[in-house]
Amino acid sequence: MTFEKLGLNADILKAVSDLGFEIPSEIQEKSIPQLLESDTDLMGLAQTGTGKTAAFGLPLIQKIDFESKDTQGLVICPTRELCNQITRDIKAFSKYLPRPNVVAVYGGASIDNQIRSIKRGAQVIVATPGRLVDLIKRKAIKLETVKIAVLDEADEMLNMGFKEDIDFILSQTPQTKSTWLFSATMPKEVRRITKEYMDDPFEVTVGTKNTTAKNIEHVYYMVKERDRYLAIKRLLDFYPDIFGLIFCRTKRETGMISEKLEKEGYNVTALHGDLSQAQRDAAMKKFRERTVQVLVATDVAARGIDVDSVTHVIHYNLPDDVENYTHRSGRTARAGKSGMSLSLINTKESYKIRQIEKIIGSKIEYKKIPGSDDIREQQMMALVDRVVATEVNENELDKYWDMIYEKFQNYSAEEVVMKFISAEFNKFIEYYKKSGDLNASKNDKDSGGSNARGDKKNRNLSGDSQRFFINLGEKQNLNKGALVRLVCTTSGINSKDIGRIEVHGGYSFFEVSKSASKGIVAGMTGKDYEGKDFVVEETEPRKGGGGSYKGRKKRSGGRSGGRRR
Ligand code: ADP
Ligand code: MG
Repeated sequence: MTFEKLGLNADILKAVSDLGFEIPSEIQEKSIPQLLESDTDLMGLAQTGTGKTAAFGLPLIQKIDFESKDTQGLVICPTRELCNQITRDIKAFSKYLPRPNVVAVYGGASIDNQIRSIKRGAQVIVATPGRLVDLIKRKAIKLETVKIAVLDEADEMLNMGFKEDIDFILSQTPQTKSTWLFSATMPKEVRRITKEYMDDPFEVTVGTKNTTAKNIEHVYYMVKERDRYLAIKRLLDFYPDIFGLIFCRTKRETGMISEKLEKEGYNVTALHGDLSQAQRDAAMKKFRERTVQVLVATDVAARGIDVDSVTHVIHYNLPDDVENYTHRSGRTARAGKSGMSLSLINTKESYKIRQIEKIIGSKIEYKKIPGSDDIREQQMMALVDRVVATEVNENELDKYWDMIYEKFQNYSAEEVVMKFISAEFNKFIEYYKKSGDLNASKNDKDSGGSNARGDKKNRNLSGDSQRFFINLGEKQNLNKGALVRLVCTTSGINSKDIGRIEVHGGYSFFEVSKSASKGIVAGMTGKDYEGKDFVVEETEPRKGGGGSYKGRKKRSGGRSGGRRR
């Protein structure tokens, strides 16, 4: 099958070919001829990534009279991001047509600018429901001339509570128009809409059986609930060249995870409904331009987003509605590429994996969270690959070459390579020395994890010291190295001022040289450790080999005991 056979005009075919589309996708092949030949209503059931935009966009523009300035095509979709994406696509499809004006209208942006664009004569308007209702009520938009109304991602719009808005909008359009509805799922509410607004619609269904692309590798990992965040970091470290999405269940979780990852130096940004429109635009822009590697997003915010070459979709938490798994995973393995969909679950969530396997009709493979050796190897090789791929700028280097040569002249080529790699890599080795196995299983104390044994330094302070208590220990994933980092980053002291450390089950002690100890409690109060709040207080020096919890209680008083000195 070719696009030529679908009945599209030469100008449109040229634009399609410019986009690199050669073979119509299934939904395009099934819908386009039908929509061109008749004025039928249409109901298309298809997953994201199946090419729906062209399936409705191409026949839409062919049926529009661009010599007129009347608004003839109306596309309604759930989010601003989609609105922009569809507008961009339709503009690309119509670039060889006379004076097309395709206008996007959505909330959060200047309504005056949008009104001005509409006034210039917009043959096609792509809109989110809320803003469109505003425009209608302000009489800034006339829909009497609409010939075709498209409802894209109808199920999502209904999920988001746009039913009334859609009712109102459609009531403003002429009875004679055609309605084309697209949806990834067909819940009762969508059925009802098709009954209400459509007249014996032509139905197209594609890919119900194997709903996700075949070239997606599905994997899940099992971790303890409290290790989810650490596990995400492992995955990001294991895939240093990732260009992907992390899905969270709520806006709050999305914000928190992205903020923490960003703080820890990962190249991520967030996309969710609590951000301002400007922030959301900036996030999408950075992601499209690949200045960020990972977008941390909610289901709603990322619905239908089409960015090429996404390598991984990570489910920080599985969606509450398992159907959303397919939508999420559909962000990768697009346009013939392959991708991975990685899920983190806790020990009680295996049933969800089985549910999803049923829906996607394929197996989700269990894998272990990569251990430090695996990660080091991946990172090392990624670094080496980057070094090998680096272009040498001889002109610039020439100036310094004599100096550089002098410094290195006593090293062999191997030594020089080792030094450069180590210079980049040592930090990483340090971090992973201190981390254990995150896989949740009955005997999860194995796998060479070195929790609580990480900081091998013999920490002895020469002068006076102050001892502190903190209510974090092994149970909260703390080890000596992590404690040193926590103390140093929160209070700003140098690690050489930290003396003896004892990490116990649910609490720990550490010593700080007297001179540096003043700011510890103030500096650490109000901070969190991997999302967990904690309490730090001064306590009495360690007696002999003791340092037991009992001893501490008696001497410094518990939090609630009110016996603090
Ligand atoms: P959907 O709306 O079903 O989620 P899109 O319309 O966003 O899917 O299309 C998904 C991706 O596939 C887009 O990047 C689009 O440019 C590309 N695409 C669509 N149709 C074709 C085709 N016939 N050949 C190649 N790529 C296509
Ligand atoms: Mg779409």
